Amino acid sequence: MPLIVQKFGGTSVASSEKILAAARKAVRAQQQGNQVVMVVSAMGKNTDALIDLAHQINERPPAREMDMLLSTGEQVSVALMAMAVHSLGYKAVSLTGAQIGIRTDSTHTKARIQSISTDRMKKLLDEGNIVIAAGFQGIDENFNITTLGRGGSDTTAVALAAVLQADTCEIYTDVDGVYTTDPRVLPEASLIPSVCYEEMLELASLGAGVMHSRSIEFGQKFNVPICVRSSFSDNPGSMIIKRSPTEKLPVSGMAVTKDEALITLLDIPDRPGVIHQIFAPIAERKITVDMIVQNNSDDGFATISFTVPKAELADVVPVLENTLAEIGGRISSTDENVTKVSAVGIGMDGQFGVASRMFRALAKAGVNLKLITTSEIKISVLVSRQLALEALRAVHSEFQLDTIIDRLAKLEFKPDHSSKPVVPMEVVEMLRGKGMEGLTIHDIAMNRSQSRITLLGVPNLPGMAAEIFEELAAANIVIDMIVQSHHFEDRADLSFSLERSQFQDAIKVVEKINQRMPFSKIETKEQITKLSVSGIGLRSHTAVGIGMFRALAKANINVETINTSEVRVNVVVDDSDGERALECLRAEFGQL
Ligand code: ASP
Ligand code: MG
Repeated sequence: MPLIVQKFGGTSVASSEKILAAARKAVRAQQQGNQVVMVVSAMGKNTDALIDLAHQINERPPAREMDMLLSTGEQVSVALMAMAVHSLGYKAVSLTGAQIGIRTDSTHTKARIQSISTDRMKKLLDEGNIVIAAGFQGIDENFNITTLGRGGSDTTAVALAAVLQADTCEIYTDVDGVYTTDPRVLPEASLIPSVCYEEMLELASLGAGVMHSRSIEFGQKFNVPICVRSSFSDNPGSMIIKRSPTEKLPVSGMAVTKDEALITLLDIPDRPGVIHQIFAPIAERKITVDMIVQNNSDDGFATISFTVPKAELADVVPVLENTLAEIGGRISSTDENVTKVSAVGIGMDGQFGVASRMFRALAKAGVNLKLITTSEIKISVLVSRQLALEALRAVHSEFQLDTIIDRLAKLEFKPDHSSKPVVPMEVVEMLRGKGMEGLTIHDIAMNRSQSRITLLGVPNLPGMAAEIFEELAAANIVIDMIVQSHHFEDRADLSFSLERSQFQDAIKVVEKINQRMPFSKIETKEQITKLSVSGIGLRSHTAVGIGMFRALAKANINVETINTSEVRVNVVVDDSDGERALECLRAEFGQL
């Protein structure tokens, strides 16, 4: 019999009427011939109210007691939901995380799921019950109640769908589905009928805010088809699946991280271990570093720019000053008024000139780019916060995201919504052994077929990147990674990598551009080696980047360029270090 997991968020169970409406949806799904598991969040803003109450009593409540308290919100909801199903004349049993057997580690208030037993749920389902599971909570090996972090009910739902090998996991919420960007920010944003896990991961963790990003990591790892839809309508919503027709489009969504701060370091000695020395003390303070951009020059010094959440800037500066006193270099500037705007699309990988289109659209809107980083499926630019909305609107319109529904409908490609998860039970068992939510590195790769061109001291004006990359595109040159760091107020360093077969052609183009746009210097390297670590969970396991830098530092290997995304970390090293770098990364992350 098909099995459906239905998750109802706080707004979907905020009142008795809403609880009854949710119960009716579950009953209807059961009448249509499905076994049904409901996962329920705390009612309305109940979790916020409990947190508030705790802080009235103790400014720093113990994390264990916080979990004891917060888990009650979901316990209220499941009991009421079971009563609602009974009142409609059907059978239901509510279960807490502990009663199901959701085992987690002991990191109170942000625990990770290790294993879930299915016996009790299966038995109840076979007896004709709707099983009503409390979201967001679990139990550690000493029977302490734990919670999974704010918004964690999504993760419970997808995890249950994974272990029960459900046909679909429906996430009922107060929005209609996944949008091309937040419609409250940009009214022309459109619903996306389907996206793939990788796109959604980039969008979810980039602040699109629709779902807990750990739940998407579960979906991807166990291949659970997820449907995000409104509890207040019968609209079909958005599917999050393995392969979606968005793969035919260059860009399928955009995200904005509003409150970032930019830090630029100059004259950093370009030698092994430095990156690790800079970022490890920041990571130790649990501050998340986002866009890291590094450009090297032949003179033995590097420029490094990176962003941290604006609120953390004041804490980061003294830590950096300490480190720099030891290794040399200086903080050249900090800027608190910056916002990151990213375009995401699984389809951009195979397409040509996507970056230059984005840069041109931004130039037309008069937006200057302070930093640029690209990954296989994402282009991120850092812009001044006042211009962020302009920037978002310009790129959204360039890629016609407002009409994405019609354009997807015209494609031949139809997503297969009905397919059963393909992850066999043995794999589920194996992953359980490692802790279901553990980091899964699925690839450590080395690419030695690329070259790099670096333009130092480029005049940093709106339209500069557009002009350079349009001209390269016009010469049919395919660009891989683009990295632009901030330099002085009006100058930037820009480097990009490309296939070696196009290296000479690209140099000619760049020299031509240099005749009318003076850079201070062009540096080229014909043979570079790029190493990539890809996996699920890189975002929530922030230690991956640090682990990489540490491993390379220990092996005395210099990192020339860094580029990070939610699903991959790339570094460029000297070719003579390539093999050794690959070895030490394999050792760090385990042989694959
Ligand atoms: N009730 C928890 C929260 O508000 C979990 C959830 O809603 O997903 O964060
Ligand atoms: Mg929620």
